[in-house]
Amino acid sequence: MSYDNNNIFAKILKGKAKAKIVYENDHALCFEDIFPKTKIHILIIPKNEYTDIYDFSRNASSKEKESIFLAFESLIDLYGLDKRGCRIITNHGVDGRQEVPHLHFHFLGGEDVGRMTNI
Ligand code: AMP
Repeated sequence: MSYDNNNIFAKILKGKAKAKIVYENDHALCFEDIFPKTKIHILIIPKNEYTDIYDFSRNASSKEKESIFLAFESLIDLYGLDKRGCRIITNHGVDGRQEVPHLHFHFLGGEDVGRMTNI
C-alpha cells in the first residue's frame, strides 16, 4: 500500500493539524489520542512516512526502530508505569482494523486496561 500524504497523522507531523504532544525524539512523536480509551492513551508514531508495522519492519532504519523503543521507555518513565504496567499495541490493515494509515502504537494505561480481546 502506498503512503497517503493526507492522513491526519501526516498533517500533525507537518504542523497542519493540532495535537497535544507529550514526548518526542529524533524519529518518534508521541501525542494524546483524541478519543482516549483509557485514562492514559498516547499514540506513538515514527516521524517518517510508514503506512503500518510491516512497512516499518521492512524499511525503517535501525535508528528509527531504536527511537520507537526509546519512546516506549520514556513514556513508561513519564507516566510512572514501570510497576503497574501498561499495554502497547498496533493495528495493522483491514483485519487489524487500522483506521489511520500511518504506523502508530497505542500506549494504554493509568488503570487496569482489561483483557486483551473480546474474541
Ligand atoms: P487505529 O484504529 O489503530 O488506526 O487508531 C487510530 C486512532 O487515532 C484512534 O484511537 C483515534 O481516536 C485516533 N485519532 C484520530 N484522529 C486523531 C487526532 N486528530 N488526534 C489524535 N488522535 C487521533
